[in-house]
Amino acid sequence: MDAPAAHIPTATKGSRQLRACLLCSIVQQPIDFRKYGCPNCEEILQMKSSGDQVAQCTTSYFDGIIAVIDPENSWVSKWQRTSKYVRGMYAARVKGRIPEHIEAELEARGIKYRPRDQTDMD
Ligand SMILES: [Zn+2]
Repeated sequence: MDAPAAHIPTATKGSRQLRACLLCSIVQQPIDFRKYGCPNCEEILQMKSSGDQVAQCTTSYFDGIIAVIDPENSWVSKWQRTSKYVRGMYAARVKGRIPEHIEAELEARGIKYRPRDQTDMD
């Protein structure tokens, strides 16, 4: 039985083209965000087939790629049906914020958005 997995970018060369989701910080190639959306946040971000959404909800400004995360402590899991992140690569730090209307959408669901740039950590 296969666990759900993200479309893991295979090329390390040209990694500048990779983008990280501003909500869950998963790292994928832009074309995969566009084709399949975010494997964790698609329900809210709806990036599939929308270049605009991909541009707004992902960023190429991130650093530190980690392959493993702790799904149990994920705040995203609170609104995910699966309660787990998919396997994949994640950015340790992501610069930027999701658009305001997405933040409002999260709030409407009773979720407090936490930017992934760790500015709220101290
Ligand atoms: Zn995401």
